[in-house]
Amino acid sequence: MSNLDPAPAEATCGGEADATPAHELLIGRDVVLGGPRSMAVSRTLPHKHRRMVGAWCFVDHYGPEEATMRVPPHPHTGLQTVSWLVQGEVLHRDSIGSEQVIRPGQLNLMTAGVGISHSEESPRMVLHGAQLWVALPESDATTAPAFAHHDDLPVVTKDGLTATVLMGTLAGATSPARTYTPLVGAEIVGSGTLELRPDFEYAVLAFEDGPVIDGESVPAGALVYLGRGRTELMFGGEGRTLLLGGEPFEEQIVMWWNFVGRSHDEIVAARATWESHEAFGAVTGFDGAPLHAPELPTTPLKPRGRTR
Ligand code: MN
Repeated sequence: MSNLDPAPAEATCGGEADATPAHELLIGRDVVLGGPRSMAVSRTLPHKHRRMVGAWCFVDHYGPEEATMRVPPHPHTGLQTVSWLVQGEVLHRDSIGSEQVIRPGQLNLMTAGVGISHSEESPRMVLHGAQLWVALPESDATTAPAFAHHDDLPVVTKDGLTATVLMGTLAGATSPARTYTPLVGAEIVGSGTLELRPDFEYAVLAFEDGPVIDGESVPAGALVYLGRGRTELMFGGEGRTLLLGGEPFEEQIVMWWNFVGRSHDEIVAARATWESHEAFGAVTGFDGAPLHAPELPTTPLKPRGRTR
């Protein structure tokens, strides 16, 4: 019997090839967010052959830049959005009634689950931060939407280093933020050594020029992938970084626009639902029209693994 599936799932899951420490410098692609006063962001995940780090599947770094953020209502499914600021403030509104300003040192965590819509805006000011997504495992992909604001994150001081734990556990401190897979996210300022979990894969995002990882400097906006099998990591040089890590995410996902799903058809359905205004609720208080979904590509969307 031949395989009649026109798009068979690739039998790839990263395997053991990257079970050891690595050092891959991933330079971001410049992406211009839409709107009349658009912001330029540097996107390091997904990268061509490094699509995820644990369940972290999307990493945008922006600023420092004087700008006005204005992201009209748009939907998400199957993921959590993680908002982290170094400078500025951003107002979040969503379709479950949340209205929350986020400031540096605070976490906005939105769990889209089955579907939510939100807007983000700021007055004109210097903005510097990161916008990240965490893929939900299939078992929780359709969980009820939720939003949480955390201004009570644990801060660990060790030698010359300060770590604020956004998600998961680091250096014995655990964030109150809800996670669905074993992962960690922490802002690191200064230099020193932190213990890591050898079963996690890790990456470090530089917020500015200055950090040195494995003896090599990491330019602002770049992400260095560090692989697995490390028991500690030395943060050298100066400057602010974001440590991201997690158990390798072995499920294949389809990421398109603002949706994470498991199949082409699931994404098509999510897009149609958004465009028909049948679900996702409405964001109240935003002065403007919601975003339209782009046209789907002419070829089917393919589920992808963490490395290809
Ligand atoms: Mn969003």
